[in-house]
Amino acid sequence: MATKNPKRHEKENPLFVAPVLCLLAFPVANPARLTSRKADFQKALARWYRAHARALPWREAPSLYKTVVSEFMLQQTQVKTVLPYFARWLGALPDFTALAGAPETRVLKLWEGLGYYSRARNLHKLAQAVAALPTLPQTPEAWRELPGVGPYTAAAITSISFGAPAAVVDGNVVRILARLTADDREFKDGTTAVKAFTTTADALLPAANPGDHNQAMMELGATICLRQNPLCALCPVADFCAARRTGAPERYPRLAPKKIEQVAVTRIWCEQSGRLLLHRADARARRLAHQHELPTAEQLGVTEAAARRGPLLACKKRSITRYRITESIHRLATPPTTLPAGLLWAPFATLDAFTLSGPHRRWITEILAARVPAPALPAQQCLDPRL
Ligand code: SF4
Repeated sequence: MATKNPKRHEKENPLFVAPVLCLLAFPVANPARLTSRKADFQKALARWYRAHARALPWREAPSLYKTVVSEFMLQQTQVKTVLPYFARWLGALPDFTALAGAPETRVLKLWEGLGYYSRARNLHKLAQAVAALPTLPQTPEAWRELPGVGPYTAAAITSISFGAPAAVVDGNVVRILARLTADDREFKDGTTAVKAFTTTADALLPAANPGDHNQAMMELGATICLRQNPLCALCPVADFCAARRTGAPERYPRLAPKKIEQVAVTRIWCEQSGRLLLHRADARARRLAHQHELPTAEQLGVTEAAARRGPLLACKKRSITRYRITESIHRLATPPTTLPAGLLWAPFATLDAFTLSGPHRRWITEILAARVPAPALPAQQCLDPRL
């Protein structure tokens, strides 16, 4: 029987009060509340950064060249992965002039294993462009004219090296700002989210030391405001954070789920007279130009079914962006009589001199190390996601 007393209804029916609780739990995004306190926010962040910034090699005796190299290497790559590459790079190519004059093969060799090789090629071209300029560009707009420099990299380089008033906004900064403002909007992808938070990031940027502020935001995202289990108890800007007050900061930012795609690749292991068959990607390949990899069945001109009849040497899984890739490596006993374009024989004795993509160097090393004794895996151990 329906109650005639609305007050009693509220008390007895928890669904009735749920909207009110929801509003309390997930407050409406309010960037203006944050930016109205920006001076205090900047101070709290700067104080924490001065005390807690990690000692990273590009921050010690900083230079424009170190900043540029580190920003290129850090695109899509974690600091701990970049550290040994950065040290090796600076030792071999200490400045723009050395980099501009280096052959591309050397540049790519130094980058080997870091992935996304277009970054190395762009960095090389950028050094050549900078070396040819009469004066160094100092604004984000001018840097964006250079190879491989997008809005984030331009803002990072010019704010750190020239004090340009340009806020960096990447996934880390989006996460921090979405949480600080408890922004409940769903974004269709990272790019859309970056655009949505640029105004707030710009509004929080101080006129003095914008580079330090940007680095502090990056540092906060990398060490405190983590994607999972953010360390709110240690956070220098917790007092400004609306998401923390909801008790569910990990809820932010809200990104539409990615459509995951399963891909299967059949690769060939073929050797002859102490040489291994490799495929060299041509210069137009966006991700892997001039990198060597084990050839696919298609590159070798054999059907997948025929390739899969050979013994299975390894089955590898990896993810690249939204793709979940299963790669099975099969031995081909009889080498082709003529090699299709892009294929070449690489002597095992000089394999180190070839620029191999990171996963393929690991896989080749593993297969070579494991082959005495060399039992092939039964074919069913490699589960093809399409089956
Ligand atoms: S309080 Fe927590 S959620 Fe908010 S910014 Fe700090 S670490 Fe991130």
